[in-house]
Amino acid sequence: MEFASRSEALVSLVKFARRHLLLDERDEGYALSRLLAAVGGGFSPCEGKICDDPQDLIDGILAGTEGDLTVLGERLMDAVMLRPSEFERIFWGKYAQSPIAATNWANAYAIHSNYVKAAAIAKNLRWHADCGLEITVNLSKPEKNNADLKKQLAAPSLSYPKCTICRENEGFERAGFSRANLRTISLTLAGEPWFWQYSPYAYFNEHGIAVRCEHTPMVLDGRTAERLFDFVDLFPHYFIGNNAPLPRVGGSILMHDHFQGGAETLPMQKAPVRIPLRSERHPAVRAGVLDWYDTALRLEGTRGEVSALAYEIATAWETFSFPAAEILPATDEQHSTASFIARKRGEGYILDVILRNNRCSSVHPDGIFHAHRDKHHIKRESIGLIEAMGLFILPARLKRQLGCVCDVLEGKSEGLPADMGAFESMTERLLAAHGRCSPEEARLAVKADVEATCREILEDCAVFKRDSVGDAALEAFLNASNLKKE
Ligand SMILES: [Zn+2]
Repeated sequence: MEFASRSEALVSLVKFARRHLLLDERDEGYALSRLLAAVGGGFSPCEGKICDDPQDLIDGILAGTEGDLTVLGERLMDAVMLRPSEFERIFWGKYAQSPIAATNWANAYAIHSNYVKAAAIAKNLRWHADCGLEITVNLSKPEKNNADLKKQLAAPSLSYPKCTICRENEGFERAGFSRANLRTISLTLAGEPWFWQYSPYAYFNEHGIAVRCEHTPMVLDGRTAERLFDFVDLFPHYFIGNNAPLPRVGGSILMHDHFQGGAETLPMQKAPVRIPLRSERHPAVRAGVLDWYDTALRLEGTRGEVSALAYEIATAWETFSFPAAEILPATDEQHSTASFIARKRGEGYILDVILRNNRCSSVHPDGIFHAHRDKHHIKRESIGLIEAMGLFILPARLKRQLGCVCDVLEGKSEGLPADMGAFESMTERLLAAHGRCSPEEARLAVKADVEATCREILEDCAVFKRDSVGDAALEAFLNASNLKKE
């Protein structure tokens, strides 16, 4: 949207905040003063326009402005938003009526305040594959690799706030990174103070993170399931899961304990049970190995029994060894760990347990149960919780790179650009299978190849392969966990 002047854009933002951000009429003049303080310069009173896109409003105000536009943009939004305490008071007021109404409102507030970049997210490519996976090419977030993560783990923590998800970021500004417009919701999980916030990159519907108030590293312990179940008791329409607390198999932030969740059913959660199991110690729990590409079990039953069994399985996994299947739980450091994903079904509790191992070998220096090198052209980052559950977040570079592969298939170019050696075998494979293609055929062939690669990445991550050695290893593990096939 075009604005006649900066003054017009400023007044339009105040009007926007009246409609969408609960700016009180009494505070309009004050909000305008704070906006002027943020951007400086003169002001001519005017009518303002109806504009419902916060990024358009920010762009209109900052047109021609020099400096850190991210920080300035968030500062503008903060000037017209509720204070964190007011935001939270309204949230819990709505929650008393209905948890769904409360989270709908909070998520919409995060979008309107431009914390969740809805317009940028809408530009991501996303599709459902026939094999059940969902694939997104994320155009709004930079790619991190395992070397970056190692560096991040080794780096001294920031002094204040200690990391990018600490609660002290609410309202905080630093160069290139602003959380002036962040608002969070206090939670108590397993008796500990936590908080919830929506994710700026929103990989799926109402995607957010629950973060421990204390800055302490990711853990999987005897209270993890209790924390997750407390969360789904509060928000029965959300799922929530912990990223495995080790590099290569976990998320991008390992130094601060947090969970990911939201209002979506991810592909793995739709997978049926392949091998029904019965626990000797918890016979009332319905358990089973999932029919899924990586290795996951599902437990369903009462809260206490599911929590107890999940922890027994995780503990058994943390020491389970089966060298013929490359499974060593620890060397000089711990390698075996797990992710728990909780949700509710009626009064019952479901916990999916994904078994992970992050050991590397000379054959697989990036991880034996990680995407193998022949698939790094598609994805080399950690395969964290969300991917392990079948929603692939692929890097933005692929938009151009897959386009170049299509160009070769269509005969529009003779070969790949010099920097795309990693795509040569994919291109040769597709040329051999399809020959020269029409643009539509090329697009479909490339898409199908990406889907197959994503599926194979999850199979690389599977600790129990679907072969005779893997079956023997699984059998031994079920014995070690006191689980019997039904
Ligand atoms: Zn932190």
